[in-house]
Amino acid sequence: MKIIENVNLKKYNSFGIDVSAKYFVEINNENEIEALANSEVFLNNRHYVISGGSNVLFLKDYSGLIIKINIKSIKILEDNDEFAMLSVGAGENWHEFVEYCTNYGYYGLENLALIPGSVGSAPVQNIGAYSVEQKDYLHSLHGYNLANHNFNVLYNAECNFGYRDSIFKHILKNKFIITNVVYKLNKKFSPNLNYKELKEKFSNRPNTTANEVFDAIIEIRKSKLPDPNKIGNAGSFFKNPVISNDKYLVLKEKFPEISGYVGEDGVKLSAAFLIEKCGLKGMKYSMNNSARVYENHSLILVNYNNASGEDIYNLSVEVINAVHDKFGITLEREVNIVR
Ligand SMILES: Cc1cc2nc3c(=O)[nH]c(=O)nc-3n(C[C@H](O)[C@H](O)[C@H](O)COP(=O)(O)OP(=O)(O)OC[C@H]3O[C@@H](n4cnc5c(N)ncnc54)[C@H](O)[C@@H]3O)c2cc1C
Repeated sequence: MKIIENVNLKKYNSFGIDVSAKYFVEINNENEIEALANSEVFLNNRHYVISGGSNVLFLKDYSGLIIKINIKSIKILEDNDEFAMLSVGAGENWHEFVEYCTNYGYYGLENLALIPGSVGSAPVQNIGAYSVEQKDYLHSLHGYNLANHNFNVLYNAECNFGYRDSIFKHILKNKFIITNVVYKLNKKFSPNLNYKELKEKFSNRPNTTANEVFDAIIEIRKSKLPDPNKIGNAGSFFKNPVISNDKYLVLKEKFPEISGYVGEDGVKLSAAFLIEKCGLKGMKYSMNNSARVYENHSLILVNYNNASGEDIYNLSVEVINAVHDKFGITLEREVNIVR
């Protein structure tokens, strides 16, 4: 474990924001976490944990210690006719893990292909796409509690998973370093084709394979989402808002074209639709027009060139205000803001 000073973070965040960290350390195993937690630099500075950096927005140079988790390993804990339990190091690349599972016959995560980032961050915002969330297959996870300096196991029910939400965004925020995640996956493949485009694509194909679904997801995502290697972004910048049924009916009267998905907690609206209706799709912001609402998908804010973190953040404020003024709904940011 080597703590280094004044490290540029541009390549460590998918927005490509050009900021630096006062201290930076990469963690490759559990022993290094314990050593770090007892180090002078850790004890005397604030800290922030990152993995792939695809869901963070740095507003300025970070004045403390950035801890990057690189713990690698995939262990098969159990493998029978029904299911398999796999323990995966937090630093494994999420997409590569999904590909591994699909190829080796461990099913369930196919719809989550091509989501950037690492396995250890997947539980933090309970990543989800195309009608699947990682919580549907998470058995438990292991990690180091920086508050009480202990390694703990948390089972699925203890993680308080919700829509893009978990305990790691609340009472354990920045306090718990996830080191391994255990997924319980199916050995028999049963495709989840609830998402409209998938249903249409596979409607006449009773023997759809996991590899076909995996490939279809990649194709759909590549056609819609900006590649962070080419255009800086962090995927959806805002959560889709959930409102009460009464509020939905009032809005529907005023804006008949609005549509919502009725769930357990209320009616979920498309934030992209709301932003688009405010005329903000493609909106350019900042001195050099680098910070923008992506022209192909209004839920995504992009850094076309050299926007600062503040530019992207200020653009998000403009979007939140515009949506609030028109619809009376306050959008919540999905991306983690690091000050
Ligand atoms: C093009 C694009 C598309 C995307 N599509 C989706 C999508 O479809 N669905 C979806 O849900 N998300 C999506 N995202 C968001 C992002 O990929 C996920 O949130 C992902 O899980 C972030 O992983 P990361 O390793 O990059 O996390 P980071 O950005 O490094 O960190 C994210 C958060 O997790 C915390 N964290 C990171 N590692 C650990 C750890 N080991 N222990 C504890 N806390 C940790 C950080 O402190 C931070 O709060 C997309 C992003 C992009 C750029």
